Amino acid sequence: MIRDSFNRIHNYLRISMTDNCNLRCFYCMPEEDYSFTPASRLMQKDELVSIAKVFVQHGVDKIRLTGGEPLVRKDAAEIMRALSKLPVSLTMTTNGSRLHEFTEVFRECGIKSLNISLDTLDRDKFSVLTRRDQFDRITENIRLYIEEGFHVKVNVVVMRGINDMELNDFVEWTRHENVHVRFIEFMPFTGNRWNSDKVFTWQDMIDRIGAQYEIERLEDGPNDTAKKYRAHRHTGTFAVISTMSAPFCAGCNRMRLTADGKLKNCLFSKTETDLLTPFRNGEDILPLIRASIDAKAKMLGGQFTEDFEQIHAEDIDNRSMITIGG
Ligand code: SAM
Ligand code: SF4
Repeated sequence: MIRDSFNRIHNYLRISMTDNCNLRCFYCMPEEDYSFTPASRLMQKDELVSIAKVFVQHGVDKIRLTGGEPLVRKDAAEIMRALSKLPVSLTMTTNGSRLHEFTEVFRECGIKSLNISLDTLDRDKFSVLTRRDQFDRITENIRLYIEEGFHVKVNVVVMRGINDMELNDFVEWTRHENVHVRFIEFMPFTGNRWNSDKVFTWQDMIDRIGAQYEIERLEDGPNDTAKKYRAHRHTGTFAVISTMSAPFCAGCNRMRLTADGKLKNCLFSKTETDLLTPFRNGEDILPLIRASIDAKAKMLGGQFTEDFEQIHAEDIDNRSMITIGG
C-alpha cells in the first residue's frame, strides 16, 4: 500500500501519455505556440508500463490515462493493450476527437467507461474556446460511444460569463440520453487566465439548475470527487466537481505521473519527483514514490487556502494543466 502521512491510501494513478494535443483550450494550454515535449523525453511505452507496474504491485487498482490528448500519441493503442493486462480498472479522459478510430481497442481492453470533455453545445463558442474546429466530430463521437453502450461522462469546465448560461442545456441533454455530465469548477494553473470571479461555484450551479429542474442528490462513492444528481425522471445524471468551493482532499487517493515521468502527489503540488531518470538508471523507484506521497500536503498541494477568493493567479507555482495531465 502507498499511504501518506494523513493515512490516506493512494490506489489511483493518473498517467499523462503526452503533453501534445490537437486542441488549444485556453484554460489548459495557455500559449498558442506552446512547444510539446520531444518524444525522447517522454516515457516510452515499455517505460510507462514498467513504472505503472511498480504502482500496481503496491496497491494501485485504478489507472486513468490522460494528457494532453492521450489518443494523439501514436502508440496509444499499444499502451492501452499493455496496461489492460494489469489487474486494474483502466479508463481514460479524452477530448473525443479521435474516438471513432478506437472503439475496438476500448472493447479489447475492457474499457467500458470514459470521460469526454465538451465545454459548450455551441459550435462557434467551441471554436473560440478550443481554437480548433472539431465540434461536429466530437459531438458525433460522443453520440457514437453512447450508442455503443459505453458509460459516457462529459466533462464541462464551467466559467462564469463564458458557458455558465449553458448549464441547463447540458442538464436537458440528460433527459432522454444515458449521458453523465460533470460540471467542473474552473481551476487556476500557471498562465490560464484564471481569476476568482470566473469561478461558478457548486452552489451557483445548484441554484441555477434547481430553478429549472426538480433535482435529487444521488449517493457518492467513497473517493468520489463528483457530487452526483439526477433531474426528475431524466435518464442520465449530472454531477459537480467542486475543487475550488468545497475541496475533497480528505478522501484523496490520487497520484499523477506526467508524460515526462515526474510524479506529482497533488494536482496543485509545487514540487514533483523524477521517476523516469532513476528508472532509466536502473534504480529502485519505490522509495522515491513513497517519499513523494509521504510529503503530500493535507490540502490543495499546500498552496491554497480553502477560500478560493484569496487566491492570486500570479502567485501560483505549478505547471500548466496540459503538462500535468488532468
Ligand atoms: N485532452 C483530454 C481532455 O480534454 O479531456 C485530457 C486532458 S485534460 C487536461 C483533462 C481534463 O482537465 C479535461 O476535462 C479538461 O476540461 C480539464 N481541465 C483542463 N484545465 C482545467 C482547468 N483550468 N480547470 C478545470 N478543469 C480543467
Ligand atoms: Fe487539449 Fe484536453 Fe487541454 Fe483541451 S483540455 S487543450 S483538449 S489537453
